[in-house]
Amino acid sequence: MAGMFRLFPVLFLLVSCSNSADMHETRFIMGTLVEFTVADADPELAENAIRQAAEEMQRIDDMFTIYRERDNSVKRFNRSRPGTSVRLDNEVARILSLALAIQQESNGAFNPALGRLNRLWGFSMEPLPSHPPSEDAIRASIPPAGCIRKDGNEWSRTSERCELDFGAIAKGYAIDRGIAVLRRAGIQHAIINAGGDIRVIGSHHGKPWRIGLRHPRSAGDVLGTIEVKGDVSIVTSGDYERFYIDRGRRYHHILDPESGHPAALSQSATVIAETATLADAWSTALFVLGPTGLKLLERRQMPALVVDRRGRLHVNGPMRAIFQPAS
Ligand code: AMP
Ligand code: MG
Repeated sequence: MAGMFRLFPVLFLLVSCSNSADMHETRFIMGTLVEFTVADADPELAENAIRQAAEEMQRIDDMFTIYRERDNSVKRFNRSRPGTSVRLDNEVARILSLALAIQQESNGAFNPALGRLNRLWGFSMEPLPSHPPSEDAIRASIPPAGCIRKDGNEWSRTSERCELDFGAIAKGYAIDRGIAVLRRAGIQHAIINAGGDIRVIGSHHGKPWRIGLRHPRSAGDVLGTIEVKGDVSIVTSGDYERFYIDRGRRYHHILDPESGHPAALSQSATVIAETATLADAWSTALFVLGPTGLKLLERRQMPALVVDRRGRLHVNGPMRAIFQPAS
């Protein structure tokens, strides 16, 4: 944490002009700008709560990331000899169990064992690569099915191609932990927005919070808006987040575990769920599944939408009830 905060020592405290009762603060965590908005709270209490929430989110990032120097149980698992047992942190084990369940429920679209393949493509590195890897290298980095094994409190892998990567779920979990800390500190009305992945609690001075969904090809525009009150998470996966264009083709960071290539059916996928952890995992799964995945989420009563590869919007039943398309 210290490293990140030393780089960004200034607290961006912007009290919005339009509504002096809202407090906004922005921190750089998990490689993205995280915006905290708190309404109807004492400013000192809110500032303290936000600081604690940001520290908690940084703790989660440190625990799950495989892309920084510092060691953690995820990296130890990824270095382990196949067949040998590794003790994962309790929170990592809990999120991994959930990730494996979602892998099953999404027919393999979500896969927490793509670490090696993700590293090969290099979308989490700086600078981004400019060409795709060879087909041979891709084939050699796809993990075998069912490669993560659980034995009591210990975990093991069956193959060196099997490396954990929580990039598609840990940000959601960090948001959930951030909200838990805000609440514990006495905050009732807030939004945490981590680069478009959002959880809201309470209301905005008695009115619903209004959330705009980004257009995947036109950064300044919205697809539409959703009005939400209470405790709701809204997460979007998009091919515009980390990508490069090579010979006219877009290569982006959400991979189809079957082909080993960037998933080709969607430009963006948005899921609303009870927790940001679930919304994060399912939006990545839905992005891979494309429009046909919308039914799967409808059966779970999760509002969802997909912008398909041609830019057409598909909305499931629960989403239709709350989504207002931009005119
Ligand atoms: P998100 O932005 O939440 O959709 O997550 C994308 C990140 O999750 C990537 O940067 C990878 O680290 C990882 N990832 C890519 N494809 C998948 C997948 N099919 N299932 C699970 N994680 C993935
Ligand atoms: Mg995700």
